[in-house]
Amino acid sequence: MNDITLAPIQPDQPSHLMATYGRQAISFVRGRGAYLYTEDGTEYLDALTGIAVCGLGHAHPVIAEAIAEQAATLVHTSNLFEIPWQTAAAQKLAEVSGMEEIFFSNSGAESNEGAIKIARKFGTQQGVSSPKIIVAEQSFHGRTLATLSATGNKKVQDGFAPLTNDFIRVPFGDVEAIQEVALQHPDIVAILIEPIQGEGGINTAPQGFSYLEEVRTLCNQHNWLMMLDEIQTGNGRTGKYFAYQHTNIVPDVLTTAKGLGNGFPVGAVMTQGKAVGLLGPGSHGSTYGGTVLGSRVVYTVIDTIQKEKAVENAAVVGGYIVDQLRAQLTDKNVQVRGFGMMIGIQLPKDCAELVAIARDQHKLIINVTAGSVVRLLPPINMTQAQADDLLERLVALINNYL
Ligand SMILES: *Cc1c(COP(=O)(O)O)cnc(C)c1O
Repeated sequence: MNDITLAPIQPDQPSHLMATYGRQAISFVRGRGAYLYTEDGTEYLDALTGIAVCGLGHAHPVIAEAIAEQAATLVHTSNLFEIPWQTAAAQKLAEVSGMEEIFFSNSGAESNEGAIKIARKFGTQQGVSSPKIIVAEQSFHGRTLATLSATGNKKVQDGFAPLTNDFIRVPFGDVEAIQEVALQHPDIVAILIEPIQGEGGINTAPQGFSYLEEVRTLCNQHNWLMMLDEIQTGNGRTGKYFAYQHTNIVPDVLTTAKGLGNGFPVGAVMTQGKAVGLLGPGSHGSTYGGTVLGSRVVYTVIDTIQKEKAVENAAVVGGYIVDQLRAQLTDKNVQVRGFGMMIGIQLPKDCAELVAIARDQHKLIINVTAGSVVRLLPPINMTQAQADDLLERLVALINNYL
């Protein structure tokens, strides 16, 4: 075993890290399921799971074993060779998604880059010289140049001009706005949306998931690709394996990441129907995409989600959490929204300070997004008893605060 131990960090020691994150002054050294532990053994209930990443909880024994065994056997050979674990992972992902073709990447933004390339290729093949993609206000699609251009948040784009000119923005949930821009722009080739906006504040469309059905109809009418960003909503998070499965439609292009690796960096862009075959030999690639190790993790994560019936659990226990929050939060101006284990609590005022109060006073890890929304992304396999533990801490936190 390796014998490296880190010296404790001194508060006055200069850090060489680029200052891109506003970090909390706490670090965790160990995790187990829904709980995180600091060096001194203090236990925290994690209702954030690495931002919707560790859906099966921390240090899941089956996934830990798969990683350890594969790491000691073979990590990477490159896509110059057949990779049986990659083929098997694609088979699993096709099974749970209903999609046909899968390309493995290493992150969410990279998966969306793949989707944007597919849309451009689709347009180019039809003689559209500058293909355009409809995107939504308050959306989040990543931090690369194309995906930050697609993102509907000025703070993400600030200082990074020129943005790519692929995108036309409409209000989320507004079908008439889509019909209007369709009349103005003959070069539209695709729509890219999140079924539920995560970073934007756990926003569902006003008409709910039927928005997805309306968008599907418009995409069929105009011969556009329907592209869904399920990087956060995928892998059981909303109580279906993918959120679009709350409806009867299937998108042409689907992206996912976060929960797909339970903490191991992986992502995927998937196609079916008229999007199949657009990226052929030489048109796309990634050195790390679908490594032996990464692919085995994907396979094991999906297999474990299936065996534990974690998607069904997210629907039942997540529904219970939402019902209990609605019953127990006393302020009538509080609005609870979301599906499964993707829950937003809209408070009547800005509440960024709740993150520190929850952590220090209730030993609870939460996140606040869009200024006034408490965002909960607990493990999708959280038990009823853990949900009661979460509710006790959370209800006390919010009722005391308002
Ligand atoms: C997190 C997220 C991304 C970006 O994923 P990265 O892995 O950080 O690149 C894109 N879209 C959505 C909806 C996300 O939640």
